[in-house]
Amino acid sequence: MIPILYIVIPCYNEEEVLPVTSGMFLEELETLIEKGKISGESRILFVDDGSKDKTWSIIGGLSEKDSHFVGISLSRNRGHQNAVLAGLMDSMDKCDITVSVDCDGQDDITAIEKMVDEYINGSQVVYGVRSRRDNDTFFKRFTAESFYKLLGVMGAEVVYNHADYRLISARVLKELAEFGEVNLYLRGLIPLVGFKSSTVSYERRERIAGKSHYSLSKMAALALDGITSLSVKPLRLITSLGIIISIISFIGTIWAVAAHFSGATVAGWASLTCIVCFLGGIQLISLGVIGEYIGKIYMEVKHRPRYIIAERTDEKDSH
Ligand code: UDP
Ligand code: MG
Repeated sequence: MIPILYIVIPCYNEEEVLPVTSGMFLEELETLIEKGKISGESRILFVDDGSKDKTWSIIGGLSEKDSHFVGISLSRNRGHQNAVLAGLMDSMDKCDITVSVDCDGQDDITAIEKMVDEYINGSQVVYGVRSRRDNDTFFKRFTAESFYKLLGVMGAEVVYNHADYRLISARVLKELAEFGEVNLYLRGLIPLVGFKSSTVSYERRERIAGKSHYSLSKMAALALDGITSLSVKPLRLITSLGIIISIISFIGTIWAVAAHFSGATVAGWASLTCIVCFLGGIQLISLGVIGEYIGKIYMEVKHRPRYIIAERTDEKDSH
C-alpha cells in the first residue's frame, strides 16, 4: 500500500519565506507522488502559530491555488513545539506518515524521500540528523552541542544533532497523543514512545529569508524545559550536594569545637563569612531548581489545552 504523507510545517511570522519555500515543498511532494512513493492524497499542512504578519493569508492563498496545500491556524502564538504537535495531532487520522520540518528552507527537503524509504523498510520513526553545522555561527553551534551533552548527562535520551525534522508514523502518533504533558519537548518525548527508529542525515543550510525566532533566551528556555521535563536528575544532584556539604559541615563543626577547647580560637570572621555565603548560595540554587519543578507541576495539573485551532483552510466554505 502506498502511504499518505502529511508534511507538517510550523510557521510564525514567515511572510518573507513562505512564498519561496512553499513552491519547493510542493515540487518535492509532487516528485514523490510521481515516483509512486507516496499517495496522491498526501498534503502539505501549514500550522500558523498565531503569526502577526501576512502568513495566514499567504497560506489561505496557497490552499486555494493547489489542493495539496492545507493549513490550520492556532488561536495565538504557542511556540514551535506546540505548533508542531498541533499539526501532527491534526493530521494523525488522515495519513499514514508525517514529516515535520521548518518552513525556512534550512533543512534539505530531499531527505524526505530517504525518510519515506526508511519507513518502507520498517522504521516507525526516522530522525533527521544534521551532517554538519558549518552554516551556524560558532556561538549557535557551541551552545547547541553543549546542550545535547548536558541533556545526555542529565539522563534525557535525545538523538545527537537532531532538531525537529523527522518522520513519524500515524501509529506512533496515536501513542504520542496519550502523553498529556503541557511542558512539551518533542525531541525527548518521541524516543520515549519507542518503536523501531532510524536516522537519515541531511545538510542544514542558511535560512532563505527572514530571521531566526530562537533568541538566546528562547534557546535557554527550551534547554531548561528539555531537562526539567525529561529528567529528575537535578533534584537528585541537590540531594547528593546536600549530603556532601553536611559531611563537610560535620567535620568542620568538630574542628571548630576542638579548636575552641584547645584555646586556639581566633577571630574567625573570614571563615565564617565564607561558609555563610557558600551555604546561602547553595540553598538558593537548590530552592530555584526545586521551584522550577514545582512550577512545572503547577502547569501540568492545570491540564490546559496545549493549542487551540481557530481556523482551517479546508473548512472555509462552512463558515
Ligand atoms: N516557529 C513557530 N512558533 C514560534 C517560533 C518559531 O512555529 O513561536 C517556527 C518557525 O516559523 C520555523 C520553525 O519554528 O518554521 C523554526 O524556527 P526558526 O527557524 O526561527 O528557528 P531556528 O531554525 O533558528 O532554530
Ligand atoms: Mg530555522
